[in-house]
Amino acid sequence: MGGREKIITIAGKAELTAGDIHYLLSLAAPEEIKLLGELAYAVKKEHVSNRVYFRGLIEFSNICSKDCLYCGIRKSNYSPERFLMSRMEILDAAMFAQANRYGSVVLQSGERTDQAFIDFVCDIVSSIKTATQGKLGITLSCGEQSEETYRRFFEAGAHRYLLRIESSDRELYGMLHPQDRHHDFDARLNCLRLLKKTGFQLGTGVMVGLPFQAIEHLVGDLFFLKKIDADMVGLGPYIEHSQTPLYLFRDQLWPSQERLVMTLKMIAVLRIMMKDINIASATALQAIDGFGRERALKLGANIIMPNLSPKKHRKDYLLYEDKPCIEEEREECRDCLEIRVKLTGDEIGYDAWGDSRHFINRNHKPQPYV
Ligand code: SAH
Repeated sequence: MGGREKIITIAGKAELTAGDIHYLLSLAAPEEIKLLGELAYAVKKEHVSNRVYFRGLIEFSNICSKDCLYCGIRKSNYSPERFLMSRMEILDAAMFAQANRYGSVVLQSGERTDQAFIDFVCDIVSSIKTATQGKLGITLSCGEQSEETYRRFFEAGAHRYLLRIESSDRELYGMLHPQDRHHDFDARLNCLRLLKKTGFQLGTGVMVGLPFQAIEHLVGDLFFLKKIDADMVGLGPYIEHSQTPLYLFRDQLWPSQERLVMTLKMIAVLRIMMKDINIASATALQAIDGFGRERALKLGANIIMPNLSPKKHRKDYLLYEDKPCIEEEREECRDCLEIRVKLTGDEIGYDAWGDSRHFINRNHKPQPYV
């Protein structure tokens, strides 16, 4: 069987084997990668349509108690000025999302588990709900929390939660995090289970192109996402940050273009494997390629996250270096993304939550503003 037929055959299978996934992720000829992308885009169109949903991203605090070895806002990096946006600033960003018909916001922060922080997040979530008459969808991304906290977040009105597993391989996870009880693989896995149990639409994902990572790890990651039955996935390339310990291993990295192409192939294969989930086109893609996010939409992603964080804080929320758009105000992000999405030929789903079809299909009643 020639390359083209083999790719078409694998993409049409109900269940992909490890060998199939490995084959697709190893594709190197541009025309074969293009074919993979076209097949994945066809799956997207059929199962979740070519409507792309916006999630206004509010990076509301960089204060973090974790020390992840790859992350620019890790506790031990003393360079960023630590901030917590005020209630009014966050509400203002949410109202901007509403006024611009984004449909949803993502509230993301560093990780804190103290009571003051948890109360603050609950207050913000319920205030946004009240201020928008329940119309704005809310995703949280505030790290590992207790079951009780997740329940409080859910009851306050958040309905989606993002917590990347970062790498589903226990050993590799251990190499990316300090070896202590605050960075425990099993605890993270347990959080994913708790989030699901609480009733959240579950979002998770991994970084692609990490030091020590091989294609076999990525094959395992795709199986993991399927097994955990994620409703939403965010996959992004790893990008080194000079103020982190992992930077020491930068000579072992794949060149950034290869990390980008591998991320795009991962998105395409994931779309083929999990047809009705939401897949975010990660901002990190654009750090490597000016059109990285559009390329992801063209091969399966259907969610994009315009940044609503105030410009004054963006330089302090550098998870990785070369983060795009740190000089832009949110109006510019909006205009730029609208044009970019339209250029891909996709449509924008305004004023809608754009909930995961997978979540709806897997047993839940449609939400009022899906
Ligand atoms: N505290 C929250 C949010 C973390 S930041 C949480 O724990 O979930 C969101 C994501 O940024 C992380 O999950 C990680 O996958 C990504 N990230 C962090 N550092 C990165 C880097 N150097 N390159 C690419 N992605 C990175």
